[in-house]
Amino acid sequence: MFIIFGINTKDEIIREWNMECPECDEYSRFRLYARYTYFSLFFIPIFKWGHEFWVVNSCCNNIYTIDKELGKECMWDEDQIIRPRDLKLIQRNTKYRCKWCNAKLERLSRYCPECGREL
Ligand SMILES: [Zn+2]
Ligand SMILES: [Zn+2]
Repeated sequence: MFIIFGINTKDEIIREWNMECPECDEYSRFRLYARYTYFSLFFIPIFKWGHEFWVVNSCCNNIYTIDKELGKECMWDEDQIIRPRDLKLIQRNTKYRCKWCNAKLERLSRYCPECGREL
């Protein structure tokens, strides 16, 4: 008899909510993700470990991390809220931002419409 087992990682959306973006002050959609590693036996996950949490917003598409404990609480407790100050920026999406004045750009263009500098 064959025993089929594996170790895999999985990303899961824990929740979606709206709040003010700490970067651009716009009210936007935030998504909390958890990544965990699991051990499976015959394709059935037996146990999970090593949760990592991160948050992505829809206005700036920045990537944030949050405290592991807070992330775990969010998994078990629906009333647990995440505030802008809980977010730690790990990756700024500069694609739609002027690198000089940080103005939000509608589309990629050669010059920033705000400060006129070359992008
Ligand atoms: Zn934003
Ligand atoms: Zn600019």
